[in-house]
Amino acid sequence: MSSKQGAPSLASADEQDKFITDVFEMCMKRVVQGTRDRNTPVVNFKTPEELKELVDFDLTTDGNHREDLLSLCEKVFDYSVLTGHPRFFNQQYGGLDSYGVAGSFITDVINANGHTFEIAPMFLMTEVAVLEHMLKFVGYTNGEGTFCPGGSYSNFLSMNMARLWKFPETKSTGIYGLPKLVSFCSEQAHYSAKKNSTFLGYGTDNCWVVKCDDRGKMIPEEFEKLVLKCKDEGSVPLFVTATAGTTVLGSFDPFNEIAAICSKHKIWMHVDAAWGGSALLSKKYKHLCDGVHKADSLAWNAHKMMQAPLQCSVVLFKEKGSLERAHSLNVPYLFQSDKPYDVKYDLGRNLLQCSRKCDALKLWLMWKAKGDAGFERQVDQAMANAQYLTEQIRKRPEFELVIPHPEYTNVPFWYIPPSLKGKEKNEDYFKQLASIIPTIKTRMQKSGTLLVGYTPVGKIPTFFRMTVMNDKANFSDMDFVLDEIVKNGKDL
Ligand SMILES: *Cc1c(COP(=O)(O)O)cnc(C)c1O
Repeated sequence: MSSKQGAPSLASADEQDKFITDVFEMCMKRVVQGTRDRNTPVVNFKTPEELKELVDFDLTTDGNHREDLLSLCEKVFDYSVLTGHPRFFNQQYGGLDSYGVAGSFITDVINANGHTFEIAPMFLMTEVAVLEHMLKFVGYTNGEGTFCPGGSYSNFLSMNMARLWKFPETKSTGIYGLPKLVSFCSEQAHYSAKKNSTFLGYGTDNCWVVKCDDRGKMIPEEFEKLVLKCKDEGSVPLFVTATAGTTVLGSFDPFNEIAAICSKHKIWMHVDAAWGGSALLSKKYKHLCDGVHKADSLAWNAHKMMQAPLQCSVVLFKEKGSLERAHSLNVPYLFQSDKPYDVKYDLGRNLLQCSRKCDALKLWLMWKAKGDAGFERQVDQAMANAQYLTEQIRKRPEFELVIPHPEYTNVPFWYIPPSLKGKEKNEDYFKQLASIIPTIKTRMQKSGTLLVGYTPVGKIPTFFRMTVMNDKANFSDMDFVLDEIVKNGKDL
């Protein structure tokens, strides 16, 4: 299907410029403007087999010309999901912030490497500025932090930091000869807590799971019981992940109580605030995070509630010098100390990554554009949308909430089709629901009108897991969600 003559490297500078401009226009038309129109489908879903029929993925080629390349780019837009669409509720990211997108374009075209100031001066200055600003929201007065490629990685760095804090010598000696190290997280914690335990060599068996109450919050007494059990068997309680805004239910753990147990037993307290950290931006909702400043570290994803483009994630530490203590090494070919500037700005000195994408600029530009007040409005709008949706679910007899009072913007709920209405809620009932809900989702995915996730959690059988975050969504979008589910589910 493509005209395979001549290599594009032979294209003139003018032709190359024209190509970039054309693709840029496509980005604007297909995504930035396309996303604003609610009639644009959220997704034009195709299976992998269908995509193979529709697109020539094979790379056996002598090069392609402009028209063929542009048509390939069009196809990328045709079959991609519009995650910034106001009816994309599938995961906790999206929103397509214009300033964030502009910041991403700038970052990509400059293509700096975030290890040293000499290569990325503007990016590292913005990184320092954003981190300092976020530290204030958490309430760390002598803290530091770094941008990370995602919340799972932020959680990983924190878990690693805990060992180097408790056993500094293991930076060189390794963990050989140490007693068994145990970490803790709640039943509702993000799965990275367990994966990181494997990655660090502690193993999933030594990531102990603490029971939650019926709102999905860690029970502090259960946590302390496990800590004592751990000490009794001669193991070391090292690290706990408390969560601000659990991934599925949006619950916030009792940070003050957990902090008291940690300080009593000398345990590193980490708050995974990947999702819920943004509550700190709102005067009305920051109380959800009460006590997080007592934690030793905190992970906060700006690519979730704050709607920065992926990826944009920070981990913050209460104590300055933590990163250096854990990660610095002498690397004379990259991190010389006789440079014509203060080398503390060579942020890569104290990180694990060498080459590093510069994720701060887009968030810095967003912050400059809207200020604290703009982010606060964004969070408050998302909360208002979620609360409106919750109300509607309460009012409409065909729906049922999974938890009676959602704290954040996760609204987990069931749709009860006419065929199940009034039936006894036994195993069979929930088994049927568990197959009906994915069927409705697939129907909506195929018509492209709406994307929303579903999941079971613990003993709670499969439900719709709405996560509201795009502040461009409004109350009628919330009504649309419920109407669309009824439309696609009433015959089931
Ligand atoms: C999303 C999420 C993560 C993982 O963040 P990534 O950026 O996807 O790696 C971790 N913890 C919580 C609570 C989350 O919601």
